[in-house]
Amino acid sequence: MTTRTKLEALAANLWWSWNPEAQDLFRRLNADVFTAHHRNPKAALHAADETVLADPGFAQDVDEVYDAFTQYMEGTPEAEGAPRTSYFCMEFGLHESLPLYSGGLGILAGDHAKAASDLGVPFTAVGLLLRDGYFRQYFDEEGWQQDEHVAINPDEHPLTRAVDGNGDPLTVTVHLGEQPLQLQAWHLPLGRTNLYLLDSDLEANPKELRSLTRKLYQGGNFVRLQQEIILGIGGLRLLRALDVQTDVYHLNEGHCAFLTLELMREQLAEGRTRAEAEAWVREQCVFTTHTPVPAGHDRFKVQPFNQQMRHFREQLGLSQDELLAYGRTNPDAAGSPFTMTVLGLKLAREANGVSKLNGHVARQQWHEMYPERSLDEVPIGHVTNGVHLPTWTAPHARAFLSQRFGNWLARRDDPDFWAQVEDISDEDLWHYRSTLRGLLLDFAAEHNTAQSLTQPFAPNPDALTIGFARRFATYKRAPLLFTDIDRAAKLFADTDRPLQILYAGKAHPEDEGGKRFIQQIIEITQHPDIQGHLLFLENYNMEIGRMLVSGCDVWLNNPRRPYEASGTSGQKISAHGGLNLSIADGWWPEGYNGANGWVIGPEATGDLKDARPPEQQDRADAEALYTTLEEHVIPEFYDQDAEGYPRAWIARMREAMKTLPHAFSAKRMVKDYLQDVYQVKTEA
Ligand SMILES: *Cc1c(COP(=O)(O)O)cnc(C)c1O
Repeated sequence: MTTRTKLEALAANLWWSWNPEAQDLFRRLNADVFTAHHRNPKAALHAADETVLADPGFAQDVDEVYDAFTQYMEGTPEAEGAPRTSYFCMEFGLHESLPLYSGGLGILAGDHAKAASDLGVPFTAVGLLLRDGYFRQYFDEEGWQQDEHVAINPDEHPLTRAVDGNGDPLTVTVHLGEQPLQLQAWHLPLGRTNLYLLDSDLEANPKELRSLTRKLYQGGNFVRLQQEIILGIGGLRLLRALDVQTDVYHLNEGHCAFLTLELMREQLAEGRTRAEAEAWVREQCVFTTHTPVPAGHDRFKVQPFNQQMRHFREQLGLSQDELLAYGRTNPDAAGSPFTMTVLGLKLAREANGVSKLNGHVARQQWHEMYPERSLDEVPIGHVTNGVHLPTWTAPHARAFLSQRFGNWLARRDDPDFWAQVEDISDEDLWHYRSTLRGLLLDFAAEHNTAQSLTQPFAPNPDALTIGFARRFATYKRAPLLFTDIDRAAKLFADTDRPLQILYAGKAHPEDEGGKRFIQQIIEITQHPDIQGHLLFLENYNMEIGRMLVSGCDVWLNNPRRPYEASGTSGQKISAHGGLNLSIADGWWPEGYNGANGWVIGPEATGDLKDARPPEQQDRADAEALYTTLEEHVIPEFYDQDAEGYPRAWIARMREAMKTLPHAFSAKRMVKDYLQDVYQVKTEA
């Protein structure tokens, strides 16, 4: 094989997205093009510098990476005998060059698929080719968020048309009402797993329907219904056309839940009774619910639902009321909408929330579906989310960990591996932290100069650096730190104990409240006491995410409880020695042990009846945030001994590194799914 052929093979599989050595090869081919295309290997290869390709040293490096790739692909699966899993999700966050995600749900799905590949689970993922991508964020002079969509051209990515047995492009058909719609699909190899993305952009379709799969969470409830018909029903038909065999269908969030009805249609067509068909579907399906936010659950009004589902319903042979009953808590509640989460709960044999606390919240949320049961008997468990460490761990950190402790990739979910952090000296650990902080500040300063709103920013490589980045959904309360602007300003004005904070995040284009939050933060970058110490990084994506989670000393998370189902960004920091400062919500009550970070305010109960009115809760949490910063976080960082080392802080870092990365890794999460959810439990 020539060097070029090997590079083509590497570029054609997203394995490179969690292997920096592979990315580095493509950067060397053409650094400008690589960077301009959000670090896209295929683009760099297309514009390759021939002299680099001809360099024997380069060829040798390609050989090495290529060998590692082949070994990975052919290696013995760690999860031998795992069930063949088909995983459905509306969004997938895999890499910044392919913006098929808006936030946590997509990132989690991407991390799940990558960890399934690492473990060798026979795994197929199904989603939509969101050609318009999630938007690029920029700002007008008033600091008001603007959005721009840059179309994804499949040719510039490792995407090829899915083909049938004869090698011909394959299509499947679904009906929207009486209107047939043809779908093609794109194949994206992701390590040892495969992702298929459905696409309605075909000549054969009416013009107005060709764009249906283009946009993520935009276009209103009716488009959402149509997209979900495509994902659930079209997705299963695609798997059939591809001849993908499945033991477990994993429904990741309610968007794809129509999949259950298509499975049922198949069974009914084979002559099973409805009861038999339902039981069979339930045996195949497991369902994960991700959000305690009521608006996060798709509900479809009766009239558009009946209209769009009509053809399919006739194929099912059900009456309108019989079909609607699958999406209603109370089947007899005439006029009540069809709820996708209810469908998922009714037709899956296992259901789970995404943290221990979230499981408890979900049981309360859906208790009314099981009126004959006590709260504890509501059949919703939990599998706590985790993150794909190879994706999120900075190259400097990867090098440090392997140099100190050996094969960190293989042992990343092993507590004994992380226990070795005990053996690192305070000095070395502090230099590790300072190096990562410095790399982030360089990145941030450079990013700032290219922003639509360049801000006054004076990075200080020795200052306590806090990060806050996530979707600007209002329940996440991004500006909570500035509730009392004078008290906040005092923290930044202290020149003996300098503080800097970096923000990033996108508001949904229709979320005025979220946009106002961003505008407020951008305005505060001009405050006389804060200026230079606060930076809003534009266009939050996976690259900015990676930089922030590796460089920040403290990760701030202050959602309004109990709306954070899990949260994952705080899980990405601990391998880098970053510390969580978080409300006791989502995953944090499981992670926090009193010595590996801080909790803002009271411990969690997760009891919905304890919730206080939002204004009251916000005020109390802001007060707790100030107190924790003033009395604990800032003093501990600056309590440095004669040699300049903050011993207590370093001890806290060590504790975080020992206790968190292995427990909140995606590998542990996928193993939990395999053991606790996918396994068919036999009655004792
Ligand atoms: C990790 C991550 C998220 C999810 O963050 P939460 O903590 O769950 O809010 C969203 N976007 C990007 C780019 C991320 O890296």
